Amino acid sequence: MKLLVIGIDGATLDVMNPMMSEGKLPNIKKIADQGICKRMLSVYPPITYSAWTSFKTGLTPGEHGVFGFVEGAPYVSEETKVVNTKRRAFWDDLSDAGYKVGIVNVPTTYPPSKVNGVMISGLGTPSLRSNFTYPTNLKSKISWKFDVFPLKSKNLVDKLIDAEVRITSTVWYLHNQQEFDFFMVNFQGADIIQHANFGKEQALVEKMYSAIDYCIGDILSEITPDNIIIVSDHGLGPCQGEVRINEWLDQLGFLRLKKTPGYKNSFRTWMQENIWPLFHSTWITSLIKKKVNPAGWANLVDWENTVAYAGGYLGKIYVNKKGRELKGVVTSSQYNRVISSLINELNSWSLVEKVYKADELYQGKYQDLAPDLTVIFNEGWADFPGFGNGSIIYPSRRRGDHRMQGIFISTLKEVKIDCITDVAPVIKEMYKVEY
Ligand SMILES: [Zn+2]
Repeated sequence: MKLLVIGIDGATLDVMNPMMSEGKLPNIKKIADQGICKRMLSVYPPITYSAWTSFKTGLTPGEHGVFGFVEGAPYVSEETKVVNTKRRAFWDDLSDAGYKVGIVNVPTTYPPSKVNGVMISGLGTPSLRSNFTYPTNLKSKISWKFDVFPLKSKNLVDKLIDAEVRITSTVWYLHNQQEFDFFMVNFQGADIIQHANFGKEQALVEKMYSAIDYCIGDILSEITPDNIIIVSDHGLGPCQGEVRINEWLDQLGFLRLKKTPGYKNSFRTWMQENIWPLFHSTWITSLIKKKVNPAGWANLVDWENTVAYAGGYLGKIYVNKKGRELKGVVTSSQYNRVISSLINELNSWSLVEKVYKADELYQGKYQDLAPDLTVIFNEGWADFPGFGNGSIIYPSRRRGDHRMQGIFISTLKEVKIDCITDVAPVIKEMYKVEY
């Protein structure tokens, strides 16, 4: 096998470098010592779906159109559409060129493609009942559990490790069945445990990384690829506080809520119960479909007097645009005025590091689906959808949050990788598949 790619979702050298120098990640260190070990930039927004889509396509979000978990602006219809992450990936080209490929547990790969080989879908798979394997009958032959659990699960780290061990035995099983030219497996657990424990219970974070290192050692005791790449979709770092952009928009008059009794409380509760857990649920897709029904919360907003609202994570602000949003009020002639007044206000907010207009951050054919404004907060501050109790700032419930710098570790010595979009072209070049 020419190349084995191992994904570690959310892996950061901030945790791995000290562990490697203390001899705690022997298998990963062995790979790093043979070639490259560096930080690799993610794409904006550094969200798992956007970043893995950039990894597999070599395209930026403006070019592939995946900006988060939901399709486009959140309030464009009564029914929120879960983003479709199916895009042509480099492994489809490898497969078409006749190479035997195996893709296991990589986010954004549901439904699995009919590749020349096997595929087991990762994050985004609706349930164990769905057809998440190709070929379909593979499902009955593996003992599978998805490695995504709510952050507050009891014994979270042990559950995650159990799932990673099952994934490892599946990798063994597949390799005993057939020979592969290209294989990729992703471990999801580091992302989840870091969201739950970064900096607070660092022993649990290290336990997770050690377990993944152990699984990598286990895989390499059976498989001897010519080359190995270990990659993450984004990094993680400590989270010191939460910001509610919608609360801020409300206070400044950009957004209004209907003044019905308990309105704010129910909006807040809805957001907390429905938006937040879906990012850490195993069955992300079905949750979005079932629970993220804008009719529930959108009824609480006085849309006729709302010119902007925040949706999702990572500073996404949408203008309530006429013709796009379901109850849009801002006409195209008013649009620029709303944008500049938002930018002015945001620039005088001390927590804001930078504000970008859609075309400053995103280029490509999907630019129209991008948020109208993206706010980047000072490091350690994460925004949270919905409302609080009148304040804009809250103590963070997450211990860790995404960072732009992921990892690239490889036995390859001569490759130039700076950003996650650089990986797909390098792999296609290795297999002499045209890019
Ligand atoms: Zn991720």
